[in-house]
Amino acid sequence: MPFSHLGLSSALLNAVQARAYQQPTAIQNDVIPSLLAGRDVLATAQTGSGKTAAYCLPILERYLQQKKPAHRTVQTLILVPTRELAVQVGDTLRSLSQAFSQSPKLAVLFGGISINPQMLHLRGGADIVIATPGRLLDLVSKNSLKLDEVSCLVLDEADRMLALGFADELQQVLKLLPAQRQNCFFSATFAPNVTSLAEALLHDPHRVNI
Ligand code: AMP
Repeated sequence: MPFSHLGLSSALLNAVQARAYQQPTAIQNDVIPSLLAGRDVLATAQTGSGKTAAYCLPILERYLQQKKPAHRTVQTLILVPTRELAVQVGDTLRSLSQAFSQSPKLAVLFGGISINPQMLHLRGGADIVIATPGRLLDLVSKNSLKLDEVSCLVLDEADRMLALGFADELQQVLKLLPAQRQNCFFSATFAPNVTSLAEALLHDPHRVNI
């Protein structure tokens, strides 16, 4: 299916064209319509499959369609295991939304660097947060951001997140989110601990390549 049949608006079709993406990848074909329809998604996704754009395009479509509140609140939370992936996802979102008349405010948050610039950046809120779980919790405990209006949660590379020992932090983050939300779960592998996390998190998910 071409990109134009997936339900994306022209601002995003232009952005895809500007990146010289000719056709959606298999995972994009499968995941984008489900996420646009508001369903939870459970996907087997390897790096290189185009998984990042598969969830970033629907997130940006939703941003374009929603009313912009006077005060920015975090609508979308993307949890990732590493700084490298956080930066890469932030770059993808930035590049896909650069021609919007009003771009979303992104916050890319990870540990291993000073927390102060991140706290400063979060003043005035953010629309989309991309974070590793530990630093996210530090920032919540310092009242730098609230997660009680998150309506979409993405877990990317969930297997690596558990392998790196983030299970407890992940559970703490989940407790801070509203129960009513869309969930999107990506993992390259599905060991039993990954499957039980997905089962606890997802409601009647669209399963892709599981
Ligand atoms: P990812 O699997 O998300 O890490 O993406 C792997 C690479 O594929 C990235 O460099 C993307 O920019 C690129 N990519 C994503 N979607 C497409 C597409 N539909 N056509 C061509 N390249 C793409």
